[in-house]
Amino acid sequence: MAKSIGKKEFDSLEKEDQKKYTLEWNCICNQCKEKWHYLDSVEKRMESQTNANICAGTTMCCNPCATSAMGNANTQLDKQLKELKQCPKCKSGNVKREPKYFKQK
Ligand SMILES: [Zn+2]
Repeated sequence: MAKSIGKKEFDSLEKEDQKKYTLEWNCICNQCKEKWHYLDSVEKRMESQTNANICAGTTMCCNPCATSAMGNANTQLDKQLKELKQCPKCKSGNVKREPKYFKQK
């Protein structure tokens, strides 16, 4: 098990030290108490991809094929992004998230 720290400890670290940590979200479903976790970097990457696709879509508005392909990719990303934040068991969005920071090697 990697050592993890909570937000309070992380905030007390120097900026340089904070860079060595990876943020992970620990989620608990308020409905069925299911637990899961995901990396913040995964969420951030999906969000940036969604935004990048929106920009690309506006510049390629003359090409219907390109825009519809982008639209599908975005829908897919949006779905994945939502699934990260919702309960994998009962699909509830009523979840509690807690940040955990893991030190990188
Ligand atoms: Zn649940």
